[in-house]
Amino acid sequence: MPPRYVRVHPRDNVAIIVNPEGLPAGTRFSDGLVLREFLPQAHKVALRDIEEGEAVIRYGHPIGYATRRLAAGSWVREELVQLPPPPPLDELPLATATPPPLPPLEGWTFEGYRNADGSVGTKNLLGIATTVQCVAPTVEYAVRRIQNEILPRYPNVDGVVALTHLYGCGVAIEAPGAEIPIRTLRHLCRHPNLGGDALLVSLGCEKLQPERLLADPRLPLLDAPPYVIRLQDAELRGFGDMVAAILRAAEKRLEELNARRRVPCPASELVVGLQCGGSDAFSGVTANPAVGYAADLLVRAGATVLFSEVTEVRDAIHLLTPRAINEQVARDLIREMRWYDEYLARGGADRSANPTPGNKRGGLVNVVEKALGSVAKAGTTAIMAVATHGERVRAKGLVFAATPASDFICGTTQLASMNLHVFTTGEGSPYGLALVPVIKVSSRTALAERWPDLIDLDAGRIATGEATIEQVGWDLFRLILEVASGRKKTWADHWGLHNALALFNPAPVT
Ligand code: CA
Repeated sequence: MPPRYVRVHPRDNVAIIVNPEGLPAGTRFSDGLVLREFLPQAHKVALRDIEEGEAVIRYGHPIGYATRRLAAGSWVREELVQLPPPPPLDELPLATATPPPLPPLEGWTFEGYRNADGSVGTKNLLGIATTVQCVAPTVEYAVRRIQNEILPRYPNVDGVVALTHLYGCGVAIEAPGAEIPIRTLRHLCRHPNLGGDALLVSLGCEKLQPERLLADPRLPLLDAPPYVIRLQDAELRGFGDMVAAILRAAEKRLEELNARRRVPCPASELVVGLQCGGSDAFSGVTANPAVGYAADLLVRAGATVLFSEVTEVRDAIHLLTPRAINEQVARDLIREMRWYDEYLARGGADRSANPTPGNKRGGLVNVVEKALGSVAKAGTTAIMAVATHGERVRAKGLVFAATPASDFICGTTQLASMNLHVFTTGEGSPYGLALVPVIKVSSRTALAERWPDLIDLDAGRIATGEATIEQVGWDLFRLILEVASGRKKTWADHWGLHNALALFNPAPVT
């Protein structure tokens, strides 16, 4: 491959190296730029002389300020770029540049499972939820028995999932913030891929009582829907009885689930959650813009698209509040940013805690650069609504659903709403979720080639010029419909790679 760099925006004074092995000092590019030192792939080269204190510009925006003079052709490393302050939240433009609607895309469908509550599933799973960690091993034991002894008789059911977690007791359940894990778990229990209902296993003495979780005064109901099994109840004598009760309820629920069939559904029934993990400097020029293009296609088809990860949006918030559909939605965005600023400050941290060693190895100097690349996932359409942590999204179109950026916490929180997940990665992660298919998109071809049995779609072809953002965006859109229909399996589902649920609990533990 001839020496190649990618500049994203005409104003940029830095660009990233494309060549997989990096490029040595003395390399001359076709425009005459000469490298003054070795540069690894994905790291930034100064395209012209940048004076001390001058803005380092990528994506057309400052990602920081040069700590000393940077000559053209030199490596713009992390320590040479000073982190700028975040955009102030009290002087942001509100809905001043709301994008007009794009032309609708009609006729795109997938085969999904319709639920009584109007939601649509992309899988047909038996879910067994838990109110507290104490019961998790018992539920996992029962799940193994169900998989081996009962499930083979119900061929239309895709699997059994234990919704176990660390929450439920030893927590300040009335403290501010406790509503977040409880609300998230409530929506997980009613996930569309569980047919809108999970069995629930409770211990009995825990803080998170089934009535509080499901807000149903009839609970617990051992032998009638929604089947709440409380292990400390007097009628259950010993472990054998507990497991038998779970198996009995599971059999009844499996009979219902087994009668379900996939039916054609408009693409507007999709709720696609987007996130990135193990990002690199390519994420913002290949995978995330391609996902953004697919996000626009989904929005045009009437679907719901969630983008999240507050700390990776915070530094690009000035680009997002103008895109809100109205001033209230812009103010809701600011509310979520402010809440997270205060949450981090309580922990003695700020958004500079975000980039990981892997992000930095991948060429990202700081959270501003990461954020500018991250928001490319959100495409170009108007932001229609904002959901706070763990809220079930009802709106159509592009929605900001607040979550931490942590991969497993973001995924778990998005599960309150989504029926399909798209995950972009540069450094690579074998991440997956049991409840929804996870499509993994790589930002570089080298990763897709090293992990051909983990990466579902390679967006690295955009950097090498073999494909355009539009082509990869359409590839992803079609892949989403295939996966949602159960016609194509993601690699994570093929291998059964399903990360643990991780509820976001900002409230104290006792
Ligand atoms: Ca993430």
